This record gives sequence, structure tokens and C-alpha cells, in this order.
Amino acid sequence: MPQRKIGAVVAAGLAGLSLGLPAQAQKSKPKPTPGTLWASRFGGTIRVLYGAMPLPVANPSRMPYRDSRDNAICVAPESLAPLGIVATVEGSSVKLSCADRNLVMVGARQGPFERSGGVFVDVVEVLKSMGIASLSYDAESTTLTVRSILLAVGLQGDSLRVSAGLPISPKVTLEREGLRAIVDISGATLGELPRQLAQTSPKILGVRTQQLDENTARLIVDLAEPLALTWSEGKPTLNAVIAAPGTPTLSEGSLPPVAVAPKPTPTVGKPSLPAPMVLRGVAATAVGDDRLRFALEVNRLPAVRPTLQNETLTLDMGNIYLSESAKSAAAALAEVKHPLIKSAHLVPVGASAARLVVELASQVGFTIKHSKGGGLLLDLLTPRKTDGPLAGKTIVVDPGHGGSSSPGNRGDDGVFERSLTLPIGLMVAQNLEAMGANVVVTRDSDFDPGLEERAIIANRVNADIFVSVHLNDGRPNRTVRGIEVYFHRQEETSRDLARFIGAKVKEKVGEALPLRGARSDSVNAPEKGYAILRNSQMTGVLVELGYMSNGSDYAALKNPTVQQQAAEGIAEGIADYFAANPARFTKYVKPQPRREYGLPSLTVAPENQVPENSVK
Ligand SMILES: [Zn+2]
Repeated sequence: MPQRKIGAVVAAGLAGLSLGLPAQAQKSKPKPTPGTLWASRFGGTIRVLYGAMPLPVANPSRMPYRDSRDNAICVAPESLAPLGIVATVEGSSVKLSCADRNLVMVGARQGPFERSGGVFVDVVEVLKSMGIASLSYDAESTTLTVRSILLAVGLQGDSLRVSAGLPISPKVTLEREGLRAIVDISGATLGELPRQLAQTSPKILGVRTQQLDENTARLIVDLAEPLALTWSEGKPTLNAVIAAPGTPTLSEGSLPPVAVAPKPTPTVGKPSLPAPMVLRGVAATAVGDDRLRFALEVNRLPAVRPTLQNETLTLDMGNIYLSESAKSAAAALAEVKHPLIKSAHLVPVGASAARLVVELASQVGFTIKHSKGGGLLLDLLTPRKTDGPLAGKTIVVDPGHGGSSSPGNRGDDGVFERSLTLPIGLMVAQNLEAMGANVVVTRDSDFDPGLEERAIIANRVNADIFVSVHLNDGRPNRTVRGIEVYFHRQEETSRDLARFIGAKVKEKVGEALPLRGARSDSVNAPEKGYAILRNSQMTGVLVELGYMSNGSDYAALKNPTVQQQAAEGIAEGIADYFAANPARFTKYVKPQPRREYGLPSLTVAPENQVPENSVK
């Protein structure tokens, strides 16, 4: 990738992002600089802040500057140490990594002075490639502000776990006689986190999030009793744990407490049990001779990993335990007779995982659907095609939005996007199923699995393809219309997939919807792209089938015939993608997985568990 081009794109992206900055930022004037200045490179001095704190500069010749050739903001790599970024120069490249992750390689820049004392790097390129920070640039004060993105907040037992892109130092203060902990994280933005966590625990009654000011993210934690809180950093350093004492945490090594409750708490004697997910029941129902449905009743979406090997389908569920009722239901499962299976067993694995093992009588496909309330449906079916391009592929279909927390766009007649993406998404799933694919649906009814959870589902089941279905809105412009298929940034396989899907949907719907084509998500989200495409770690697209704001498009989108045609187009477009190049039968994995999904409890429980009228 030509680095110059990236610099140019970045400069364009930053131009629209000027935020007001503290007045002190204005005071910084370029200082006298040593040595001969290479005027052709030097476009002025830049101030780089992490939150409100300037990044350290070893000496004037190592000051951040703007490269006048491509407008890149260049910093000395050693200045990035407070961001947890370690750099090594390798010839004409610089290798940078953050806590042993997010390894990126960028071009080394020689610096603006004759004696610059070492190379520089394009800081925007580095941080954007890592996907761990939010950036804003104020042109007037020539200041670039870097903030850590909070990637996930969740409870694990009585521990509050905060996962951030850059190192953070939470400051905890207590209010209401120790019943409320205020956790301020400076230099951080909430990103896409929900305003309220659906999770609670015996000691932590609720967690709300708030962007206190542009440099501070705040978590408001309501406690059942006054407790001492400690925080510790996880390994890598991106994972802070705030825990009440006496609770087991998964962190390695604890730091001294930063805040202590005003009163000692003699009641903290018995260690509280972690609050994992509970598998309450399981049932198998024959839906004809060619389909068998397993319904798993759970309190919220567990981590699920299906493996289909030889004649055995294994469904592993993490961080979950079997209730007594589930154990007796599991016993009944052993009695189930069906032409597709030889036997089925639900067994606990250790203390906190469960496994459904199905011995198959013949070759089958499967579909997993996520239901409201955390239900999980596993359908076994005779694949109608066992040799097609989609045979054995796992495809995650995500009907966009859902529930009151994410209605999506709204048509003039009051119908929400969520109500149209659901039937279309389920039709896509049916079509894929008929072509021999294994399909996982992020939702099968009107609820919001959570933006983050949708990508997590795709990552957990190790999907080959992720496809999210949406409808657009161009208001105030009501003339804009047509099909758009978005891929993440410059990813080639996803771009290919977007082209195949766009072409096939257009072919199917005919004149009903025009085709606007395949597009990079950087068009609409220059900074990070679409979260759902960024976070799902496989080839994937987000299909905007048409504009609800345009009369002709909207009429087509509500027409069941067009919906079915569009769904066929998406499914067949995926098949075309696989058929076009046999090399791509091998799974494509995005080069830079930016998050860890290993910890199920870091995920945010479905928003549908939040009361309707709660804080949004
Ligand atoms: Zn949408």
C-alpha cells in the first residue's frame, strides 16, 4: 500500500474532525529548532496529546511535525511509549506493536532536520492501523489529540472488567457512603459502548457509562454494599479489572488499591459466586424427517463453537453451567429418535462449560439462530446440495438492528428498518441453507443482540462469511436511491464479495432497485469504518438494499416479492464469490484482529434485557 496515499486520505479525514480543544493547546508555539531545516518536508510543528497530556519529546529535534509533502503528522516513535507502543526500526520500515498485539509496519521518515536524531513515523497511520485509538485534529492550534477507545465493559463475577485500546488508569472515587463508585478514565472515549450494562451481579447492581468531557469516560457503578475496590491491569495491559475484595478475578498481579471504601465491611466473608450464564433446558423436536430442532434455553447468549467433523456435530458453550432442570432434560435427550441422528447428549464440561454432542446418521447441515431472551436454536437438516460452492461453509447472517434499543431507520409510514431487515435476513438464511451452507443468524426475532455481540457471534463460530442486512436513509435528500454493498476499508476479498452480491441482487430485483455498487466503509466512517465489519474477523459485507427515504426504493423494499429476490441475490452472490476463485475456498482471515474475544464475560448482554425506559 503506498504510504503517501494513506497520508492523503488521512488528512482529508481529519479535516472534518476539528473539535474544540483546551485553551492551553493554543499556547504551544513552535520552538527554535536545531540544525538545518529541510523546508521541503517541514510543514510546521504539531502538538500531540494523549487525552490532555502532551506526549513526551526528547529534544526539539524530535518534536512532532507535519510533513508538507503529504500532510502526514509525524512523531518520533519513542514518544509513543505512554500509549504502550513499542517501535523498532528495520531498514526503511518501522515495526510498531501495542502490548504485543496490533503489530503494524509503516515507512520510516527521515525527519525535518539535517540532524533529526532518528526516524519518524506517521502517527495517524499507525494508530488507525491498530484500531485502538480515536483521533481528532484541531487545525487552528495544530494539535492532534489521541484518546483510548473503550472496547468493552463487562462484569465477571463481582469484577468490573474494562478493556481499552491504550493503557488506562482508572481513578475511583466513592459516593453515597460507599454505595456508588465513580470510575473516571482520562484520555478515553466510550466508543460504541452502551450507556447502561444489562449485566448485574450480587454486589454490583448496575453500571452506567458516560462521556464526562471529551477527555474523560466515566463509569458509574452502583454497589449492593460499601466495598473496597481495587484495580489491576490485565495482561496485556489493555484490560483493567476493578474488583471487590474476596472475589476471584482473572487478572494476573494486582496493583495497590487506588480507593478504599470509608467503612470497613465485616460482612465480606463468604466469597461470592461468579454469575455465569445458565443453561436451563434443552429439547429436541422433529420438524419433519429432514429437520431436527434442538432448543437450548439460556439466560443470555453464551459463547458457542460448533464443530462438524466426520459424523459428529459438537456444539461447545463456554462460561455456562447446567441447571438441575437442564440436567433432567439432558437425560431425556438421550431417548430422542430421529432419522438424521444416531444419538444426542448434553454434557457438562468442567464446572463452567457445556457441550452438545450429536452423532449423525447421515450428512447434515446446521443452522443456529439466536432468539430473544438468549434462546439458542440448533436446526439439523438434510442439505439439499452437498457438492455446491457453499457446502460446508459457515455463513453468519445478521439482520440489522432490532428491538426498541436499535430500531434503525424509519419509513414515512412509521415502519422501522428493524422490521424489514428481519424477514429479509431470514430469507437470506433460508436460501443459503438450501444451497448447503451452515448458517448462523444473529437474531430470529425483534431484539438487539448488541452491535458488538453480532461480530462476536461471527468470530466465535469461526464463520467463513459475515453478511449484515440493512436499509439506508438519505434524508434530507430523498432522490438518492439504490443498492450499496459495503466492505471494510481496502479489504480485497470483502470488496470482491461486495461486487458479487451487488451484481446478483441487481440481477434478481431487475428494475425495482438501481445498483449503486460496492463501497468502502471509509466513505461513511473515515476514521474506523463500520464497527461490525471492523470487528468481525472474516470476509464480510454490510448490504444496504435501498433507501427507505426514497419513495420508489421504499415501495420495493416493502414488497415481499422484491424482498425474496433480494435475499436470493445475496445468497447467490455469496455462492458466486466462492465459485469465482477456488483459492478463496480457504478461509480468509483479516490481517489485524484488533480485539480479543476469548473472554465471554466481557461481552455486553443483549440490550433487550434493559427496561424500555432506561437510560439510552
Ligand atoms: Zn441500518
